[in-house]
Amino acid sequence: MLVEGALSPSNCRAFMSGEAPRALLVEGALSPSNCRTTMISVLDEVLEKVNILDIVSQYVKLRRTGRNFVGLCPFHKEKTPSFTVNTEKQIYYCFGCHEGGNAVNFLAKYERSSFSEALETLAHEVGIEAAGRLSARRTPVIDALSKLADYYHESLLRYAPAVKYLDDRQIKGPVIAEFKLGYSERSIYGKEFAKRLGIPMDLLLSTGILKMRDGGEVYDIFRGRVVVPISDMRGKVIGFGGRAIVRDALPKYINSPESPVFSKRSVLYGVDKAKREITEKDEAIIVEGYFDLIALHAAGIKNSVATLGTSVTEEQISRLRNYTENITLMLDGDEAGVKSALRLITLFAEMGINGTMVVLPEGHDPDSFIRLHGLPGFQRVMGEKKALLDYFFDLHVKKHGMGTLEGRMAFIRSVVPYIEGMRDAVKKRLYIQRLAELTGVEEYRFWDTFRDGRRETERCEGEETGSAIEEKVVGIVMNRPELLRLVKGTGVEATIGDRDLGEVLSRLLKYEEEHPDPDIKLFLNVLERPELREKAVAAALGGAECDEQEVGRIVSDYLCHRENKLIREQGREITEKLVEAEKRGDEEALRELLERKKNVLTAMKNKSAK
Ligand SMILES: [Zn+2]
Repeated sequence: MLVEGALSPSNCRAFMSGEAPRALLVEGALSPSNCRTTMISVLDEVLEKVNILDIVSQYVKLRRTGRNFVGLCPFHKEKTPSFTVNTEKQIYYCFGCHEGGNAVNFLAKYERSSFSEALETLAHEVGIEAAGRLSARRTPVIDALSKLADYYHESLLRYAPAVKYLDDRQIKGPVIAEFKLGYSERSIYGKEFAKRLGIPMDLLLSTGILKMRDGGEVYDIFRGRVVVPISDMRGKVIGFGGRAIVRDALPKYINSPESPVFSKRSVLYGVDKAKREITEKDEAIIVEGYFDLIALHAAGIKNSVATLGTSVTEEQISRLRNYTENITLMLDGDEAGVKSALRLITLFAEMGINGTMVVLPEGHDPDSFIRLHGLPGFQRVMGEKKALLDYFFDLHVKKHGMGTLEGRMAFIRSVVPYIEGMRDAVKKRLYIQRLAELTGVEEYRFWDTFRDGRRETERCEGEETGSAIEEKVVGIVMNRPELLRLVKGTGVEATIGDRDLGEVLSRLLKYEEEHPDPDIKLFLNVLERPELREKAVAAALGGAECDEQEVGRIVSDYLCHRENKLIREQGREITEKLVEAEKRGDEEALRELLERKKNVLTAMKNKSAK
């Protein structure tokens, strides 16, 4: 006998993890094989209904390239996009970190949930069964949080002192509605509360927002506070922040407890509302608190997001970086904040972020500043924003003093590691210039220190070992198929020292015959061996970095060197054979070898005349 609905995905999942309700364990309805079949058929149905592009683009800024969409990978640090979405196959793949899969894999990886949780979320979204009723995992929790948000919001509108408190902070009706600000009443909750919300009390307790005292009394951790719902990228409530409205109440701010859906380190408050404007303005402003953010948005500065009072993390930056590479930190004037911001210099450099900073006058936070000085004041301080590294320089000039030799030496020691870490060669050069000006040490002396940097800037010029130049040449022709004609017919692929690299090139040449102007990402799919794919991706990425003006010359120089080398080797080989033929007295061989030697010599002469 089958209980109706027993084989729902959520029941199956619960069963598989040993949590199925006893009542459903009848007549083997929930057997491992039944469950697996159900999960697979739900998966098929979900994958048929969702479009991976819709899912991924909620998190990653993608642009079309040929048949694919590419963007900066959310799973590893990178500066050039290697994260690819293919809508025909409905899959994604990152050529940098090799992360890949379908829409469900993506969501699971991004939201750090299990595969079945991600499947359930997507099933829910595309309306396949009201899944998840029986489990206390992501989807039901998100439902509960959203209902709590509604409830808090209604409570606020009923409670005049809370509205007055916000009004005093110049937060008016439309902003209250936009951010769905709420208030948590002091009252103790009874069973009827859960019933009214239509959410089981257990589920409400599992959010960590409602808590039960030993006597069974249920209370709210936000009681007596203005409550700010915090949403994820897609605008779903995942937690709350609460601010006391009674003067001197401590702590002033509290947040939802950490949970699988809510992590302070990765949340950026307001990002769901700001992401469009961030893309349009190509800049994101980061502030430190939700009321700072609300004040900025209320004043019309909508390309801003907020951390929840913590310092900025790598995770937050990699999320933001999908919308822009220009990030401005807007900080209170205290030294601790500035110092913690400066710790981001290296991270920003690694991620290719152009990081700037605005330090507000002492005693101000963005909220109080904009209330006092309005938009013009804001624009004035934004106009004075400085690169993070400039702040760093200033700070260390002040700290060490340039008056003494020791001071200058200490200054050099503290800033050199940061300049060394810079990847942008032009910027690096400018900072070395500054360093020279500030310390009075000739610029060229620093170039010895930064030798690595210089090598990098001249990466596509100077002398290189055989394998490096070979990889570069293959990388260049991969990126610019029009240059393939230079290597075609030269047989160069057979002489490349690295066999895998040689195979990549020969496969590319063959591929190009059937696919003129080949798309490399698709070409990669024909390389079955992972080592070949990795080699190809590494070469392609390296080749993409070469200067556009130089690529043609690099390829032709390489071919020229190679030809010279081959001719020289041929010449040597002939000479050796000549010596042997002479020893043997083989007249015929001698004649033939001498003829070949003459051709080689002519070839060498022709080449040197070019
Ligand atoms: Zn990646």
